Amino acid sequence: MNCILVGPPGAGKGTQAKKIVEKFGIVHLSTGDMFREAKKSEEGISKLLASGQLVPDETVVNMIKKRLEKDDVKKGFLLDGFPRTLNQAEELDKMLKTKNIKIDAVFFVDVHFDEAVKRISGRRVCSCGASYHVDFIPPKVEGKCDACNGDLIQRNDDKENVVKDRLDVYEKQTRPLIEYYKKTGLLVNIDGLKNESEVFEEIKKYIKAK
Ligand SMILES: [Zn+2]
Repeated sequence: MNCILVGPPGAGKGTQAKKIVEKFGIVHLSTGDMFREAKKSEEGISKLLASGQLVPDETVVNMIKKRLEKDDVKKGFLLDGFPRTLNQAEELDKMLKTKNIKIDAVFFVDVHFDEAVKRISGRRVCSCGASYHVDFIPPKVEGKCDACNGDLIQRNDDKENVVKDRLDVYEKQTRPLIEYYKKTGLLVNIDGLKNESEVFEEIKKYIKAK
């Protein structure tokens, strides 16, 4: 089973990715993780990331290509964080074709704009590593960490205006990708408004049926 996971920020992709790779014993190919690894070993990428520039699609596709040469991916993989744009999807397809690798499903976990904003902007974190949500996982005392009594803060990335910008970028860049996969017949729509285990049940049912 080779699959791709897409969806807006706040859809809970990270949680689902972990559950999928654990349950089905496939390899988690996270481009975020690959970047962090490459940063340590590859000077070119390290420089790009440090300068705040976007890593070119070709570079990312090559990174994935190299990763696909390892034996462990033969048991299947889940691609997470890539592709995000139509061009990336096309580049990825070309590369996979040369390696004779097929994608079996593209799971699209969708939540609408307002829900995504609520989910992300409600997050609060403590410097001890604990995390909360003002609506879903509230601390016992407002603004204080249950574990260490430290002050809870809202990450910059989680502030409402920043979240809205991130979602706007997502809408512009990623929506065309959804249409693309719909045409190929690979798209599996998953309702991200359901809770984590219900969302996972849907994905599981689909993979088992395959
Ligand atoms: Zn704490």
